[in-house]
Amino acid sequence: MNKMTKSDKGAAYDVMKVRADFPILAREVHGKPLVYLDSAASAQKPQQVIDAISRAYGHEYANVHRGAYYLSETATAAYEAAREKVRRFINAPSLKEVVFTKGATEAINLVAATWGRTFVKAGDEIVITSVEHHSNIVPWQLLRDATGCVLRIAAVARDGSIDIEEFAKVIGPKTKLVAVAHVSNVLGTVLPVREIAALSHEAGAKLLLDGCQGIVHEYVDVQDLDCDFYAFSGHKLYGPTGIGVLWAREALLEAMPPYQGGGDMIDSVTFAKTTWAPPPAKFEAGTPPIVQAIGLGVAIDYLNTLDRAAVAAHESALLRYAMTSLAQVPGIRLIGTAPGKAAVQSFVMEGAHPHDLATVLDRSGVCVRAGHHCAQPLMEILGVTATTRASFALYNTMAEVDALIAALRKAQEVLL
Ligand code: PMP
Repeated sequence: MNKMTKSDKGAAYDVMKVRADFPILAREVHGKPLVYLDSAASAQKPQQVIDAISRAYGHEYANVHRGAYYLSETATAAYEAAREKVRRFINAPSLKEVVFTKGATEAINLVAATWGRTFVKAGDEIVITSVEHHSNIVPWQLLRDATGCVLRIAAVARDGSIDIEEFAKVIGPKTKLVAVAHVSNVLGTVLPVREIAALSHEAGAKLLLDGCQGIVHEYVDVQDLDCDFYAFSGHKLYGPTGIGVLWAREALLEAMPPYQGGGDMIDSVTFAKTTWAPPPAKFEAGTPPIVQAIGLGVAIDYLNTLDRAAVAAHESALLRYAMTSLAQVPGIRLIGTAPGKAAVQSFVMEGAHPHDLATVLDRSGVCVRAGHHCAQPLMEILGVTATTRASFALYNTMAEVDALIAALRKAQEVLL
């Protein structure tokens, strides 16, 4: 351990106890202890979630909303109980407002394809920011191509912070929707979403928050945030893949046409005319991701057993330590240093391509993400083709930050 080392012991938050819940963290990679610093891409799963998935398939599995037999009723109750867990977790006023999707990407596409194609007309404006993930850019470009609406981009300062006065200049009477990340997956910036909500609503626009990273690092109360749509993915929240959530105000869901047609989303079907089930069923055509939803519910149960304020403090401490430690490595430049940011840190190393760097770090057991992070427009603005990104979760330790730094120093010897 070098002199920067901070202790993982003695803190109020027992990270070692939390780590013990995540079996994968005990494994080795290339003969080295796994140091998993890519939770912003997808988080690891606690045993409780893994067990719940196994139990659901092994003992409680049947299709939902259909069978009049015990197992189907049990599976339906478990699926709908997961919806209630999500509702409580985000403080949604009604269960009708919680739509299960396969992920945030599908949730945003759903809004663009249904609300967008119904309510957005040629000349209307949609405001996004320059830090958005492709999944909060491309659906709006598809909508632009279909409707002739205009996409306006609110700029973010070089350190990754957002100047709300500059943001306000992009919103105007033609703005129909503001669609922004709650937290940037590249820079870690926590966007000033309450101010953005006020500006959006003053202009008569709706606000969609891409909460993929936000819900992991922040308390989310959709009523307090005063947004109109909130989208997130289960797999970044310690739950399974293949499940996500679109929260939307009930009146909006009522007014939106269905996204896909099929079983479960109908009230009645004749060849002449079909009527829709009320939300959320209206937006859940076909057999849903039953076990994935149950797994997400258990991930939420797991988070609820932890002191989330202590988790947030732990992640902030990891980030501060990582930022200080990285800044001391010669040739490393931090990308994204906005005040109050979340525990996601991009950086570049002079003379080393991020992909090569990530490959060399992997030999030390350190998993980081390298690339454009599905944010190519932001890379262009930052003047880089790619960055390396370390992202920190509730199970990471100060010792793992040290392992990252040691691996980076070793990588410099190999690459430079
Ligand atoms: N938005 C943000 C901010 C993200 O970080 C991600 C995942 N990297 C997404 C959207 C897309 O999420 P998913 O691929 O799970 O649909």
